[in-house]
Amino acid sequence: MAQRKPTPQNQPTAKASSPGARAVRLEDLAGMDSARDWGEALQLDISDYRAGEIRWDDVDSGCVVYGPPGTGKTTFARALATSCGVPLIATSYAAWQRSGEGHLGNLMQAIHGTFEAARQNRPCIVFIDEIDTMPSRNTKSRHADWFNSINNALLEELDGTDAREGIIVIGACNDPGNLDAALLRPGRLGRLIEIPLPSLEALPAILRFHLRDDVSAIDDLDAIAVQCVGRSGADIAQLVRDARRLARKSRSPLGHPHLLEVLAENLKDLSTAELSRIAVHEAGHAVTGLRLKVSEQINICLSDRPQTCLDLRIAGAGVTAQRVQNVLATLLAGRAAEEIILGAASAGAGGRANSDLAKATEVAFNAVMAQGLGPEQSLVWYGMYDSQPQIALFRPVAEEVEQLLDQAYVQAKSIITSDQDLIRLTARALLRRRAIPHNDLLMMAGMVPTTFDSKNA
Ligand code: ADP
Repeated sequence: MAQRKPTPQNQPTAKASSPGARAVRLEDLAGMDSARDWGEALQLDISDYRAGEIRWDDVDSGCVVYGPPGTGKTTFARALATSCGVPLIATSYAAWQRSGEGHLGNLMQAIHGTFEAARQNRPCIVFIDEIDTMPSRNTKSRHADWFNSINNALLEELDGTDAREGIIVIGACNDPGNLDAALLRPGRLGRLIEIPLPSLEALPAILRFHLRDDVSAIDDLDAIAVQCVGRSGADIAQLVRDARRLARKSRSPLGHPHLLEVLAENLKDLSTAELSRIAVHEAGHAVTGLRLKVSEQINICLSDRPQTCLDLRIAGAGVTAQRVQNVLATLLAGRAAEEIILGAASAGAGGRANSDLAKATEVAFNAVMAQGLGPEQSLVWYGMYDSQPQIALFRPVAEEVEQLLDQAYVQAKSIITSDQDLIRLTARALLRRRAIPHNDLLMMAGMVPTTFDSKNA
C-alpha cells in the first residue's frame, strides 16, 4: 500500500502548549467523573505498556465521549494526552472534508492520512470530533453511499490490528443516537462515556479552575456556583472572562461583584413578567421535588437557560414505578405551577430536546418500552426510546405513555394546589436572591433534612 503523507491538520498537537501555561491534566478537570475514571485507568495501562509489562491487546482501544457542547470533550482528550505523556492528533469530519477538494476520494485519503500520522507518532491519541456527523450505515438518506464509504474507511483503520497498535482513538459527539453501532464494537471505539453538564458539586471546582489565583478574592464561591446551574464548562470560562473584562474596565481587581454583575447581565433580556413566570415555574419544580423526595439536593436558580437543579435519574435497581411517577410529576410541576398560580401555562416547558416535556416524554416511553414499569406492566422490551423514537407511532405504547404523563400531571397539580403559599414565597425569594440553595429551601418549607430514599422516593 502506498504511504500516505500526513496533512498539516494531522500533526500532533498535545505537546504544543503555550510557553508558561501549564498544560491541563486529567486531575484538573471536574464534572466528568466517568471520563476521568476511564482516562486514569488508560494512563496506567499506557505506562505499563511502555514498561513492557502488558501487551497492547490489554489496553482499551478507545471510546466515544458525548454530551452537550462546551462540556469539555475536547479538553478531556487534550488533558488525557498530557497526562499519558503522548501526542494528540486532533481532527474532525469537517477537517477531513476540508482537505483536498472535498471529493469522496480526498476525504477518505484524509482519514487514512490521520491514521498514518498516528502510526508515525505512536503511542498517541487520535481525537475525532463530531463523529456523529457520519450517520449510521443503516441510514436511508440520499447520501447513504457516500457515508457508507466514509464509515468503511474509518472501520478499516480501526480494525487494522497490528497497524492500530499504540493508537487510542477517542470520538466525540453531542448525540450518540446517530452513531453506527459498528463503531462502538469492542476493539474499535469500545464504549460510550457521557460528559454531562456539570453538577452543582462540580461547579465550584470549574470556577476555581478558571479563576486561578483570583479565587481568593471571591467571598462565597458556592453562592456563585448555585447561579451557574445549567451552564457548561465553556459557559463558566466565558463568565470569568467577562467578569475579568468588567474588572479591568473599572480598574479594580476581579471580585465577587463582577461575577454577580455578569450573571445579572445574562437576565437583562427578560422582562419582569417573564422573570416572575420563570421563578414560579422553578419554584413549582423545587417544591414538588422536595415533597416527593426525588433528589438528595435541590438547588434553584433563576437563569436564562434550562435548569438542572435536581437529580432525576431513572436507572438502576432502585427505580420503581413509584419513582418514575414522582420524577414525572416533578418534571411537569413547572408547567403545573404556571397553570395554577398564574392562570395559564406558557410554552416554556416544551420546545427543545432538553425541555421538561421532552424529558418527561422520554422517561415515560422508557418506563413503558424498556423497563416494564408502564401502567399495564407489560414485559415486552422494545428498546430504549432514543434508539427507537418511531415507537411513538405505535398506538398501544403511546396510550400507556399518555396515561403515565396524565397521572403525573394530576399529582403535580395536587401538590402545587396545596403548596401554593410556599411556591409563591419561594418564587419571590428567587426573584430577590437569584438562587436558593438546598438548605434554605428546606428552611422555607419548614422541613428538616431527611434521609433521601431512592427506593421509595
Ligand atoms: P466540547 O468539546 O465539549 O464542546 P471544549 O472541550 O471545547 O468543549 O470546552 C470549551 C472550553 O470550556 C474549554 O476551553 C475549557 O476552558 C472549558 N471547559 C469545558 N469543560 C470544562 C471543565 N470540566 N473544567 C474546566 N473547563 C472546562
